[in-house]
Amino acid sequence: MKYNVVHRGDDISKQLMQTFHRLVQQHGLIHDEEAPDIVLSIGGDGTLLHAFHQYKEQLETIAFVGIHTGRLGFFADWKPDEVELLADMMGESAVVNDLRVVKYPLVEIQITTAQGIETQLALNEFTLKGVDATLMAQLHINDELLETFRGDGICISTPMGSTAYNKSLGGAIVHPSLDAIQIAEIASINNRVFRTLGSPIILPKHHHCDIYPRANQNILLSLDHVYVQRNDILSIRSMVAAGKKVKFARFRQFPFWNRVREAFIGYEPINENRP
Ligand code: NAD
Repeated sequence: MKYNVVHRGDDISKQLMQTFHRLVQQHGLIHDEEAPDIVLSIGGDGTLLHAFHQYKEQLETIAFVGIHTGRLGFFADWKPDEVELLADMMGESAVVNDLRVVKYPLVEIQITTAQGIETQLALNEFTLKGVDATLMAQLHINDELLETFRGDGICISTPMGSTAYNKSLGGAIVHPSLDAIQIAEIASINNRVFRTLGSPIILPKHHHCDIYPRANQNILLSLDHVYVQRNDILSIRSMVAAGKKVKFARFRQFPFWNRVREAFIGYEPINENRP
């Protein structure tokens, strides 16, 4: 089994990487930056987003796993003191050639400009915002007009991203076994002139959403942690990426709802008669 490590760059993450290299190489794993089977991210959720974008052309063959060196992350769910356990589990999977993975949906966006169509993928979400004025855009679902939006922006997230920016916008948390994308408004203006739905909406796969920004607007487009400013966008189509998923290596059970509880609530049972 071949592996690579992507780290945050701080001393703790670098030290942990050295320990991990030593441990997994004792198990016969081979360090390969070009074509790894497993990519370990050491840092935070942002580090895993970097790792995803670094390897997004190889999603078919790569599974990701994350150790957090700050507080518990959503993607990075192994603790630094579990590095030996993780290395042992990877070693065992390599010996029996049985790497267990879970696959989660991604959002695909197709950006149309006068030059053609560019396709991009995001693990958490993509957002569209105005740069020097509020965003004005027409939003169509399955080629039918839904609304004319005016406000700070629009966020379109994956189920894995539903606990990230989307959650701060009042979006629902969506289980990542559902092939869906969620559209959430960022501070829409609602008055007698401008009217939007006001609620987040969830689209199943095979549905698509087209956003047509007002011509020549300066737009800030984000794909996960990557931000670019554009003024050449004619429209953006978003949908559940067809035939492309992100794979996470699962060396132990960590159900999604437990992850939600640990990330956002903590564990404080109040009824002593309940487990
Ligand atoms: P970062 O690493 O500081 O991440 C910001 C926060 O988002 C961190 O607390 C991180 O743990 C958390 N996070 C990231 N992905 C998550 C997920 N899937 N579920 C739960 N929490 C998650 O900053 P960055 O490296 O620039 O990360 C980019 C991400 O930050 C974006 O994808 C976006 O989701 C998030 N973000 C959130 C807000 C907000 O909540 N107001 C605003 C901008 C960006």
